[in-house]
Amino acid sequence: MESPLKILKRHRIRPVKHLGQSFLVDNNITSRIVDVSKIDGDDTVVEIGAGLGAMTSMIAEKAKKVIALEIDPKLVNVLNEELKEISNIEIIRTDVLRYDFSSPLGGTGKIKVIGNIPYNVSSQILFRLIEFRDHISSATLMFQKEVADRIAAVPGTKEYGILSVIIPMYAVLSTIMTVPPLCFHPKPKVDSTVLKMDMRERPLFELSNHSMFLKTVKAAFSKRRKTLANNLKGMDTVCSGDMDVSSLLDEAGIDGRRRGETLTVEEFGRLAETIFRAARNQ
Ligand code: SAM
Repeated sequence: MESPLKILKRHRIRPVKHLGQSFLVDNNITSRIVDVSKIDGDDTVVEIGAGLGAMTSMIAEKAKKVIALEIDPKLVNVLNEELKEISNIEIIRTDVLRYDFSSPLGGTGKIKVIGNIPYNVSSQILFRLIEFRDHISSATLMFQKEVADRIAAVPGTKEYGILSVIIPMYAVLSTIMTVPPLCFHPKPKVDSTVLKMDMRERPLFELSNHSMFLKTVKAAFSKRRKTLANNLKGMDTVCSGDMDVSSLLDEAGIDGRRRGETLTVEEFGRLAETIFRAARNQ
């Protein structure tokens, strides 16, 4: 395929900042992302933010089918024009945050996800993928390095936060590589990191209710300087159920004087499960 810079010039397109348009111009990086995704001829791959289609055409060489999601109508026109000869690509103009990731295989089987994603909505994209985790086998995504560091952080560090708990609960993480600004056009101000998430068959801790887990983790990190017990007192399920936070923490076997950032993923699972059961028994 022609270089992204030439395609931009020929279609007279100026990258739009608020859509996170920073195109990969280093083919080696693009091909490494596709390689580590281990795509084979049976795979249906959804690409988030297909842009000018450089990665899309590489994926199409290996996959059964590629579904290329793109929000920008101008880029959708470019994709339709540039990729028209490749029969196993479907281009969909949509906001990824509204896309139904269970739809490509009609609710059966699992897709692979790939993307050099728009950094301004990377957390929302991750939450969306976690919602659809049962339909996804892996996701290989480019993040702003700081965000990737937070996702991969371990308890007790200042980077450890909501994403460092939620993502490992459902996926095994691998850090693939750091990508410098010069591999993109326009050049971002920050380094980037590619992470691969292989979705677990079962979560790290058996949970009855995913949304209670999310709520518990968000509550525990709501004020980082407060203790876990104080943060939990502000959680709506706990307030509206008039629950005794000390009893909940005792039952979960967790010291309420600790801060959220010291809890492991399994401890968060245990705590969420205790709160869920208490709420159900009321
Ligand atoms: N994949 C291309 C590449 O690697 O060169 C483009 C990557 S660029 C970082 C992100 C792309 O996502 C842009 O093409 C942008 O228009 C698109 N995008 C931004 N927000 C989106 C959204 N909410 N849904 C779908 N695509 C989006």
